[in-house]
Amino acid sequence: KKLGIALVGLGRYSTNQLAPALEKTKNCRLSGIVTGSPSKEKAWKKKYKLPDSNIYNYENFDEIAGNEDIDIVYVVLPISMHKEFTIRAAKAKKHVICEKPMALNAEEAQQMVKACKDNGVLLAIGYRLHFEPFNQRVMELGQQEVFGKVKSIKAVDNSNMTGGSLDLWRLDKERAGGGPLMDLGIYCVQAAIYTMGKPPVAVRAKFGEVTHPAYFRDVEQSITWEMEFDEGVVANCEASYADEEEKNSLSGKAEDGWWKLEPAYSYEGKKGETSNGKMEFPNIYEQVKQMDAQAESFRNNQNPKTPGEMGLRDMKILMAIYNSAKKEGTRVEITY
Ligand code: NAD
Repeated sequence: KKLGIALVGLGRYSTNQLAPALEKTKNCRLSGIVTGSPSKEKAWKKKYKLPDSNIYNYENFDEIAGNEDIDIVYVVLPISMHKEFTIRAAKAKKHVICEKPMALNAEEAQQMVKACKDNGVLLAIGYRLHFEPFNQRVMELGQQEVFGKVKSIKAVDNSNMTGGSLDLWRLDKERAGGGPLMDLGIYCVQAAIYTMGKPPVAVRAKFGEVTHPAYFRDVEQSITWEMEFDEGVVANCEASYADEEEKNSLSGKAEDGWWKLEPAYSYEGKKGETSNGKMEFPNIYEQVKQMDAQAESFRNNQNPKTPGEMGLRDMKILMAIYNSAKKEGTRVEITY
């Protein structure tokens, strides 16, 4: 039987990526929605043939507890709402997939992990790149030392928010927790760690200059940081909301070779090269593979590949990066 997923929050990611992916998944299917907009209720009900009994709003969401059609709640809301809906889903005894970054800070992430444990449900973070062939190859190249020991890493994830609306939750610290570090930098943090196969011991960071003050009154416009691993390996990283080229890449240098993905994190069009030549992998529908793998773990009562504990670890790193940036690049050690 396919496990039923209810999407909470029907914004761009749910609409354009997750719901279409759930028409192709083998282990799970879209069985419910949770939304604050009555107009979306109607449109989604029709498009995905959902019964009224599987449609909830943010107020009556807890009634999902008695609904046997729904096994998994997928939280796809602004970051400030991740904790509340993860904990409410756990109390309703549903497994949870929560989007990245997991929460506003490490304390919230800790409470989310605990709530899922206390209620006997499993928690996965929507880190889709763990299921994607180009990034999986980088994990192998780095962790299995295919070209010898890793010497350095560079990870960049930039977008361009300037020129668009000023009224976005991503530009509002209360709902987003921060700027491009939270939304995009998380990909660089993840990438450096899955290249090395271990988390960093310390970080140093600096905020970039604000050249678009109308947009960046509340959250940083850009940030650069270093992640220091044991044995002195350093990952140099950058995340920006004001890069017209919207660069995104992941590269590594090792003793006997190198690799580079560009784009590395976009949904489509990934390309990769190593010192041995071009990487040949298909571009796949990542969210299909991700949700199928996570549903399979839930079904077997196994902790997923990208568990809540991984999200918590990453929140500790993001907070250390902000702490360092606030102190003009002071080295901040991280304890896990
Ligand atoms: P979005 O702005 O398109 O959608 C957010 C949804 O939340 C909307 O439906 C909105 O109506 C609803 N909402 C409820 N309360 C709100 C409030 N107070 N303010 C604003 N919106 C509110 O955002 P999105 O791009 O779909 O992102 C949602 C989550 O998914 C975020 O955590 C984001 O980081 C994550 N995401 C992940 C990926 C990925 O590749 N894994 C890609 C995009 C987004």
